[in-house]
Amino acid sequence: MTIQKATNITWHEGALNKQDREKLLDQKGLVIWFTGLSGSGKSTIAHAIEEELFRRSHLSFVLDGDNIRHGLNKNLGFSPEDREENIRRIGEVAKLFADAGLITMTAFISPYRKDRDNNRHLLEEGKFIEVFMKVSLPEAEKRDPKGLYKKARTGEIKEFTGIDAPYEEPLDPELVIDTDALDLEESKNLVIRYLEEKNIVKKV
Ligand code: ADP
Repeated sequence: MTIQKATNITWHEGALNKQDREKLLDQKGLVIWFTGLSGSGKSTIAHAIEEELFRRSHLSFVLDGDNIRHGLNKNLGFSPEDREENIRRIGEVAKLFADAGLITMTAFISPYRKDRDNNRHLLEEGKFIEVFMKVSLPEAEKRDPKGLYKKARTGEIKEFTGIDAPYEEPLDPELVIDTDALDLEESKNLVIRYLEEKNIVKKV
């Protein structure tokens, strides 16, 4: 439960709303929430999709460790409480970006089901697309793009998801991408096809 510290604050409604911004951008604002172990490919696929959407004249934005953990959330660590607060803030920021009309992608492990579900409920039905980047632990450790698993195995990093901290798989995500079996291009195409089928982006 997050405590509401600010009182006497009112919501200021401007003359323009989300629909106006969406019309200007000719797209729907929503959140594509990637979740999965470190090294599952969340950042890589989100940026690949961002490029693909840009080519198709869609404006999207990726929230990831680089632009969140170094700034807004630099006062948070990796304890269960801090992980929860990290994901709560990201969910609120993602909602703001979606309200701005952007196709907003988040690339965080987000290991707790409850935290992801809370963020889902910030958005209207159909505007939170949860994508589970599935990877086996041996494959993730083999990739180890940032050398973090190695450090977790030697104890240099504690509470590392998949090693000595839990990861709760989504129960009913919109998409599951089996990254042990599919390469980046195939994975990206699955997401793009989903967006086309839901009329979020136009077929080319
Ligand atoms: P994460 O953001 O989940 O921690 P990264 O995107 O930083 O993971 O790293 C994932 C690594 O896995 C990259 O080196 C990427 O090239 C590789 N990879 C292999 N298969 C896939 C796939 N299907 N989708 C995305 N990345 C993949």
